[in-house]
Amino acid sequence: MGGKTNLALTKDTTAMATHRTKMLIIGSGPAGYSAAIYGARAMLEPIVVQGIQPGGQLTITTEVENYPGFRDVIQGPWLMEEMKAQAEHVGTKMIWDTIVDVDLEGGSPFRAVGDSGDEYIADSVVIATGAQAKWLGVPGEQELGGKGVSACATCDGFFFRGKKVAVIGGGNTAVEEALYLTNHSDDVTLIHRRAELRSEKILENRLMASDKITPLWNKTVESFEAGENGTLGHLVLKDTKTGETSTLEVDGAFVAIGHAPATELFKGKLEMDGGGYLVTEPGTPKTAIPGVFAAGDVMDHVYRQAVTAAGVGCMAALDAEKFLATLVFDEAGDEADTAAPQTEAAE
Ligand code: NDP
Repeated sequence: MGGKTNLALTKDTTAMATHRTKMLIIGSGPAGYSAAIYGARAMLEPIVVQGIQPGGQLTITTEVENYPGFRDVIQGPWLMEEMKAQAEHVGTKMIWDTIVDVDLEGGSPFRAVGDSGDEYIADSVVIATGAQAKWLGVPGEQELGGKGVSACATCDGFFFRGKKVAVIGGGNTAVEEALYLTNHSDDVTLIHRRAELRSEKILENRLMASDKITPLWNKTVESFEAGENGTLGHLVLKDTKTGETSTLEVDGAFVAIGHAPATELFKGKLEMDGGGYLVTEPGTPKTAIPGVFAAGDVMDHVYRQAVTAAGVGCMAALDAEKFLATLVFDEAGDEADTAAPQTEAAE
């Protein structure tokens, strides 16, 4: 392994501790935890740096009925707790820290620095940082965040019990959030910029069958306006066909227009597509840098499911194991010719 250049820190942090690992996993959603389970069972003693939202997007979901293995509906936060416990049980070290800088240049070993100031030196890296909710970027949205405007109905819907709420978007998330909000409110408006949803048919049917949800088609939100008490009072809407503006009085508004991958950290270091998703070799979690893998929503803008993320997390761990075997092979030189490299993770 060659010498390393100094890591250019983007913030003034002093290394508090150095963690050395064969496998550093950045992110703690289904992809990260699955990589950890496979990595740990392959005796790679992985470290998971959990990030600012340990457990990832599923911790802000309620009911999950499409993760295989559970006959009954399960809760997202519970599922993530179980995955974490399983990863720990087989030998993963969890660290509550957020990676703020990485040095991937020059190959393995790679270096990363956490928000805590801790330094991580890793022979391989699995990036499983997931994706975050997108915002509309219109006036009032930021200012009224937490005062009526939210990106997570399952987290904040409870606060609007018996009140008027709106959901903005036309995909699975928006429809699911609108349906969820009917548990709390009899007056839910779904605002979509087109007249056709892109959600699954089964969800659309449930939405259309609900007498608590009113769809508003061909409308965009121009601004979020405060009421007399300083919290959200109404939305200013614009009709995409006629250009006419109107207002809609609401107490709560939930922006559900999709997600953006959490890849800021890797700008200029790894290839990304137009949407900012990490690019991997087709059908694999391999980035262009040997030993650096990406798994889950951070590299998948097509499927974006917990189960697919978990699958790719598993693939990343298996590929990391093969990569690490080649490192050992290279280091040992001729002597290693007689040693059988590890190629498969334990089942
Ligand atoms: P999507 O990208 O599927 O949908 C985003 C929605 O927001 C679209 O209707 C889009 O409109 C609208 N939108 C985007 N930008 C704006 C904007 N600036 N102003 C107004 N509207 C906007 O995101 P989702 O989060 O809904 O879903 C992401 C993925 O996760 C999908 O693959 C989905 O199937 C999956 N998912 C699955 C679930 C499940 O299986 N239970 C639950 C939730 C998500 P337009 O249609 O015009 O483009």
